Amino acid sequence: MAEVLVLAEHSADGGVKQVTLELLTAARRLGAPSVVWTGPGADAAAARLAEYGAEKVYVAGGAEFDEYVVAPKAELLAQLVASVTPAAVLVAGTTEGKEIAGRLAVKAASGVLTDAVNVVPGDDGAPVAEQPNFGGAITVHSVVTAGTPVIALRPNAVSPERSPGAATLQPVAFAASDAAKATTITGRTPAEPSQRPELTEAQVIVSGGRGTGSPEGFQVIEELADALGAAVGASRAVTDAGWYPHQFQVGQTGKTVSPQLYIAAGISGAIQHRAGMQTAKTIIAINKDPEAPIFEIADYGVVGDLFTVIPQLLDEIAKRHR
Ligand SMILES: Cc1cc2nc3c(=O)[nH]c(=O)nc-3n(C[C@H](O)[C@H](O)[C@H](O)COP(=O)(O)OP(=O)(O)OC[C@H]3O[C@@H](n4cnc5c(N)ncnc54)[C@H](O)[C@@H]3O)c2cc1C
Repeated sequence: MAEVLVLAEHSADGGVKQVTLELLTAARRLGAPSVVWTGPGADAAAARLAEYGAEKVYVAGGAEFDEYVVAPKAELLAQLVASVTPAAVLVAGTTEGKEIAGRLAVKAASGVLTDAVNVVPGDDGAPVAEQPNFGGAITVHSVVTAGTPVIALRPNAVSPERSPGAATLQPVAFAASDAAKATTITGRTPAEPSQRPELTEAQVIVSGGRGTGSPEGFQVIEELADALGAAVGASRAVTDAGWYPHQFQVGQTGKTVSPQLYIAAGISGAIQHRAGMQTAKTIIAINKDPEAPIFEIADYGVVGDLFTVIPQLLDEIAKRHR
């Protein structure tokens, strides 16, 4: 069975990010998954990777992955594509993952598909990716017709499923080229520690829009998020107004999310917002305008004032926790 390369994403503590387990689950449909691990920590991660079906783990443990931006990772993948001839390469559809996918595709003279929400083998066994387009209005199924398919799969799009693999560690001799070292990381500013899950990985997101009215009004969104163990998102109207930081913006020019549950409160549902959240499994909208476009894509809708609806929701959640 042909190998399918999966580029591992590391969590802040050096562990395995959930999206890597999702990629492994998708890779198993296409062939034998081989993880590509950059930097230290492969020994500690191997058991987790094995749990989700990794047969091999290619380990390039050099410091260059930490010192330079994404170019060395793309070079490493290109080297492995040339030596292993995999059936496909799967990367996370994160900002970094998509940049790596593009660079790899150029190096390997391959086609690349980004923002995929699913990938399955086609009749000939080659991967077929499902991609929402035009803000989710159209879903297309795409195949790569040149080279090794490079596919960036959105976090949370595939449910990770366990299936034991050997996760045999295989060291890879790799030295980044001078060109790949052209952009150096000069410093890192750790994100403010937050008890909330990371927006692009969260299973539940509570997002607030202009309907929250002010930074103070937006606090009710945080309260609901905390009651549900959710991440907080915001529309661009909110981030542009400075009511909430830009890194929490969801949409075309913000983050793309695919949680199990997305609660949109006081958000009209403009196409640019929908582009970033339309693939959520379940969408609940709270809006006082029954004609708001968000209701067109909502699974459940509450027509009402969010400052009345959310406190009632919080009471109900609190009752269940008593
Ligand atoms: C190139 C481009 C890129 C863009 N990228 C993005 C993007 O990435 N993300 C994004 O979000 N937008 C983006 N936008 C902006 C987008 O077009 C909308 O302007 C924006 O999404 C609107 O935000 P909103 O829904 O919060 O505000 P509004 O459209 O003003 O909607 C507010 C909603 O709140 C409801 N409401 C008001 N008060 C209450 C209340 N008390 N209780 C309940 N409901 C209430 C109203 O009925 C209304 O539906 C982009 C625009 C452009 C041109």
